[in-house]
Amino acid sequence: MARVTGGLYLAGAAAVLVLGTAAWPRPGAAVLLAVAATAAVVGAAVSWTGRRLPRWTYHGLVAAGTALIAATVIAAPGPATAVAGAAIGAFVALDAFFFFGWRGAVAQLWWLTTALTIGLASRPTVPISAVIVVDIVLLAVAVVVGGLVQRASSAGRDPLTGLANRRGFDEAAADLVRTCRRSGVPLSAALLDLDHFRAVNDGGGHAAGDDLLQSVAGRWRPALPAGAVLARHGGDEFALVLPDATGPVALAVVEQLRNVVPGVGLSCGVTQWRPGETVAQLMRRADGALYRAKNSGRGRSVLDDQGPDPLVAELTAALAAGSGESGLGVHYQGIVAVRSGQLVGVEALARWEHPTLGAQSPARFVPLAEDHGLIDALGRRVLEQACHDLAELHRQTGRRLLLTVNVSGHQLCDPDFSGHVRSALTAAGWPTAALVLEVTESLVEADSATAVAALTALRDTGVSVAIDDFGTGFSSLARLDTLPADYLKLDDSFTAALTTSTRRARLMRSIVGMAEALDLQVIAEGVETPEQAERLRTLGCRYAQGFLFHRPSPIAGVRELLEERAPTSTGPPLRQEHRRPG
Ligand code: C2E
Ligand code: MG
Ligand code: MG
Repeated sequence: MARVTGGLYLAGAAAVLVLGTAAWPRPGAAVLLAVAATAAVVGAAVSWTGRRLPRWTYHGLVAAGTALIAATVIAAPGPATAVAGAAIGAFVALDAFFFFGWRGAVAQLWWLTTALTIGLASRPTVPISAVIVVDIVLLAVAVVVGGLVQRASSAGRDPLTGLANRRGFDEAAADLVRTCRRSGVPLSAALLDLDHFRAVNDGGGHAAGDDLLQSVAGRWRPALPAGAVLARHGGDEFALVLPDATGPVALAVVEQLRNVVPGVGLSCGVTQWRPGETVAQLMRRADGALYRAKNSGRGRSVLDDQGPDPLVAELTAALAAGSGESGLGVHYQGIVAVRSGQLVGVEALARWEHPTLGAQSPARFVPLAEDHGLIDALGRRVLEQACHDLAELHRQTGRRLLLTVNVSGHQLCDPDFSGHVRSALTAAGWPTAALVLEVTESLVEADSATAVAALTALRDTGVSVAIDDFGTGFSSLARLDTLPADYLKLDDSFTAALTTSTRRARLMRSIVGMAEALDLQVIAEGVETPEQAERLRTLGCRYAQGFLFHRPSPIAGVRELLEERAPTSTGPPLRQEHRRPG
């Protein structure tokens, strides 16, 4: 704003200087030169120091610009110079409609057209038609600039509630984080989720859901402190960022928001920004707190005030250390063909042997890595190691197993992800057709646009995709048709219930049939007993994984397994047989 306003002042000064010099030595030329000098000084000062000026002073600066232009019009030695001087008013219209809200901009336009109309009309030699043309031009500039600004800002708006959307929020939050980093004031963020919103949608239709979202947004907006940014983050989730607020202050604000919508159940996760943190990391912690709020019974707010986890620093160090001393490694669990028992693939599973605490579960350190921006490095490490190990196994045994690797949502949203996958494959000499990326359905749902685009692009290069843990959370059968996937991994809980629940068994049969119709290969996870394996066989499930066949082990364990279950042929990995077209 400072640079543009200062620049327009300087451009105006140059224009008036030209007019004044051309009119020299006629009467009035000296006034034009004085106006040019004043505008030049103001322009230079605003360009250099304007960033430190409060926003309201710009209203004064723009109004003063109009006054200088009006002086030019009145003092101009001839009618042509007067009209040319009035044309500089376009700068004022442009600046006002670019930077100010509608009300401020319209007030500036009113002052501009009034001052110039009076100035031009006071000169009997300027025809009234010229005055009207000048006013029309200024009005047109204002309308076009205002329209463009409105259109640009609507890209970051949610059309239903009029709040910022996810994109608008990310931009605004990143700005606030930068400001807080510079000034050192605290900043907090919150995620607010309407409880049982699905029931509102199901009961009263989407119109009822939309009404609720609009009414909540409408009541929250005036209840927010100055400077706060509230956004609809998607679905029934709202995001809030509060500059100049510590975690406890933000918690109080969120409780206040709960009070203004009595009768609406609300779960909130609140967190205070930590120095060095990105907006994504901050919001992930807010998301973690929201998760805890929902898990502990909904209708409450949770402040994420846990201090830094010492494991984070240790995991960071492990990732920075060479593979020998890091304690990080990869174990593999066999995937077998149910009918023959033959090993057809392996799933790579991250392992971390902590120097003092011993083996850490990935269920503990993977979310930690996700929350602290370490997952890209961890995922890359696992992928590179796994491609290397499997390529080596292939060289030793001649067997090409299918390799499946777990991928986190954050990785899929990293623009460099597909490049990393390609370079890991190239470095190890592992074929794209023998790699499967496992993603969970909820993750693809949550980050849909970016994640689905990344998966589709990778799949086009020949890599396969598996939907992991299907059957947990809100698995949607309808989504299976639209997700870019080749395999469906049915969650342990399904397998566990197979032999105890006939309903589950029937459901499994339907899922297998439907998956086949969609060209998806089903892999049942968590097979622990021969009865479960037998049931899977009768239900037509082709592939399975579980402690019954193989407990996750270092690559040497896979080699032993291969030797035990010597194949009848060294046939291709399962994906090549069943590649889904397109
Ligand atoms: P997942 O991808 O569903 O992996 C299967 C998990 O089930 C593994 O746990 C495996 O040891 C366990 N499992 C296999 N067979 C059986 C069985 O018969 N019974 C039972 N009860 N469990 C069985 P693990 O290794 O602890 O991994 C847990 C989760 O951590 C994985 O679930 C995956 O979501 C995540 N994970 C592991 N490695 C990575 C990784 O490199 N990157 C990412 N993003 N996530 C990973
Ligand atoms: Mg998995
Ligand atoms: Mg799984």
